[in-house]
Amino acid sequence: MKQTYYAIVGAGPAGIAAAEAIRTADSGKPLMLFNGENTPPYCRPLVVEALTGERRLSDITLRDVAWYEAQGITLSNGNPVVGIDAEARQIRLESGDTVAYEKLLLATGSVPFVPPIPGLSEVPAHTLYCTRDVESLRPLCQPGARALVLGIGLIGLQALTALKGMGLHVTAVEARKKVLPLILDREAADLAGRRIEANGVDLRIGTKVVEFVRNGAGFSAVTDGGDSIPFDVLILATGMKPDKSLFENAGISVKGGVQVSPAMETSVPGIYAAGDVTEYPNWVEGRNEVHAHWLNATRQGRIAGQSMAGVAAETYEPVYLNSLSIFGLPIITMGCSRIDEPKDALVLVDRVAQRPWYRRLIVKDGKLVAATFVNDVEGAGALQYLLREQVPLTDDVARSLFVDGAAGVQFMDSLHREAVRGGLEWPESMDLIDKFKKNMSHTRWA
Ligand SMILES: Cc1cc2nc3c(=O)[nH]c(=O)nc-3n(C[C@H](O)[C@H](O)[C@H](O)COP(=O)(O)OP(=O)(O)OC[C@H]3O[C@@H](n4cnc5c(N)ncnc54)[C@H](O)[C@@H]3O)c2cc1C
Repeated sequence: MKQTYYAIVGAGPAGIAAAEAIRTADSGKPLMLFNGENTPPYCRPLVVEALTGERRLSDITLRDVAWYEAQGITLSNGNPVVGIDAEARQIRLESGDTVAYEKLLLATGSVPFVPPIPGLSEVPAHTLYCTRDVESLRPLCQPGARALVLGIGLIGLQALTALKGMGLHVTAVEARKKVLPLILDREAADLAGRRIEANGVDLRIGTKVVEFVRNGAGFSAVTDGGDSIPFDVLILATGMKPDKSLFENAGISVKGGVQVSPAMETSVPGIYAAGDVTEYPNWVEGRNEVHAHWLNATRQGRIAGQSMAGVAAETYEPVYLNSLSIFGLPIITMGCSRIDEPKDALVLVDRVAQRPWYRRLIVKDGKLVAATFVNDVEGAGALQYLLREQVPLTDDVARSLFVDGAAGVQFMDSLHREAVRGGLEWPESMDLIDKFKKNMSHTRWA
């Protein structure tokens, strides 16, 4: 049996951030990092660029191999952890080896959800999640091939954009009545959908695939409307779910995701969890959820590492922000932006359909809870600040933030005089609005 002090299972951003935080606080005690995949730890959001060929797989690694050695981290690739004995403080690897630990972090991330559609096992289905997917998809993604993307969330969007750029004929199907249903309201989704269609994607919204069929050498999907969609390549982008398999027999409290304390400790003392595998309160909506976001995984991992090393841990501040570009159409959303008809809330909408241009704010109980920007993201950083800090807003102030006038600017200026002015002496000739525009760009507080 091997021995370590710190064992980290999962080498995504949560696992790596934890290892880094441990090494900042404790450079001496043994630390083993277990990565179930054969490739060195890499950046998941870049697998799409590895598929399109914009980057080589070797260019999306998170750290150089030499970094782990220099940090005194023993990295194990391609030998997943398959069991935990929480009482004996041991983990078991696929190879049969066991490792005794003092502190354990489970940062196993999430895995694609595969919908139980009849006939799915009869057709070659792919996910777009890991480097193995890239390797299996690349030979199939030839110009002129017919691709079917199931699900138009953030990963489906990346998939259809990549496939279109590679010269495939793309059909994209979404069961709900709008694209990006978890972040966009209906009107924003409509603009996004039109941009997708304008770029040559056959978009089917509010359409369910009810069966897959193999016709000789070909394949097709049958929809609930009775249409048949022939395809050569199928990508399932039907959501991710926390990879809880290791937790289930370890006596750790798990609901939708693994439940953790603010220190990222699970219900079993000495066992921590961080990243996409956890669920955490979403204070904007008052419910627990998985905060599937690179930054959140990094933040949780760092807190877990600090807690494991016994130093004061930061407070977890989740980011409820998405920033994306749909065939060149910039979109930023924050908070509960997906809700179409919020109850008991002030909803402010600004639109110029022809451009297209769309902004929406939701203020509830005197606080900003959501904002959407389509095609003009200026000022999003300031609103992100208001949402994150839950700055009290009267309806009049909220309205003034929405127009290009002095009242909203004065409010932000009084709130953050130093931050807005950036310590600079402003020439008298610049009026307040110019100063605001200069110094409150969308990147400032994002
Ligand atoms: C295609 C795609 C695009 C994305 N784009 C974005 C984006 O643009 N912006 C953004 O914020 N987020 C994006 N995300 C989400 C983001 O990648 C995740 O939120 C983040 O990676 C979660 O980090 P994590 O460390 O919790 O888990 P992961 O990054 O999933 O890492 C978990 C690791 O644990 C390993 N593991 C699991 N089980 C075991 C085991 N039993 N033994 C050993 N190792 C194990 C896995 O192999 C994996 O390497 C994207 C995700 C995907 C799939």
